[in-house]
Amino acid sequence: MVWQKRDTPGVDTLSSKKDFPHGLWQKCPKCSEIILISDLEENLLVCPKCGHHHRISAQKRLSLILDKDSFKEWDSDLFSLDPLKFNDGSPYQEKLERAQKKNVHLDAFLMGEGTSEGIPLGIGILDFFWMGGSMGTVVGEKIVLLFEKCRQRRLPVIIVSGSGGARMHEGILSLMQMAKTASAISLFKNERLPYLSIITDPTTGGVAASYALLGHLNIAEPGATIGFAGRRVIESTIHQKLPDDFQTSEFCLSHGMIDMIVPRSDLKRTISRCLKILSL
Ligand SMILES: [Zn+2]
Repeated sequence: MVWQKRDTPGVDTLSSKKDFPHGLWQKCPKCSEIILISDLEENLLVCPKCGHHHRISAQKRLSLILDKDSFKEWDSDLFSLDPLKFNDGSPYQEKLERAQKKNVHLDAFLMGEGTSEGIPLGIGILDFFWMGGSMGTVVGEKIVLLFEKCRQRRLPVIIVSGSGGARMHEGILSLMQMAKTASAISLFKNERLPYLSIITDPTTGGVAASYALLGHLNIAEPGATIGFAGRRVIESTIHQKLPDDFQTSEFCLSHGMIDMIVPRSDLKRTISRCLKILSL
């Protein structure tokens, strides 16, 4: 069965989509402060009043981590073929086309190589704005390709994740990506090459339960939601009230699930410092 296909090479997958809709102001979902969008962008999309880290586009994320003009994209031409002909009221194929049109790139994972503070690396971004950053066959395949290429070129890997989990429209095939990505990481780690996983809000379900928490270092942004099943599902299963900060970065750090919480402004510096230490 064919699950995915390549489009013609040379597709420009970089979106020019802004991080916020047209307008001058943005309301912070955490503290309700009304903030000038220009102020927010200047502050790396972090609320100047409460420190809430707003979700940002894949392009913005690349520009925050990589050195200017250093990004070279890989495998931008992979797209899903809707292997199950899934239809939950509206056909998956139509949803794919809508997402491709809205975001320009052909699936939720953007990857390639670049430099950060002069260090060459492979980088992947799972884009939450592309169907909730869900992991289907194309996302899984591109993650494997990223690790394979970086293994051959002896480059460290950074992956930034923002995802609701596996893509239900591809059923069991999307769940298979959990084992597939974990295997690729295992081969990569055998070569003693560093993998840093950057976890942003939200990183949940099959993504949190596979490659996103398999980094040599798992680094989260403050206040991100990280977990497998949602709070309501767990509470109704165990018949207990969960703590208010359950499944936050801070809760995960205090319970040993992640290694560090790093504010966005320190991320680039932290990545290069960690890579230097892990490469010794
Ligand atoms: Zn705020």
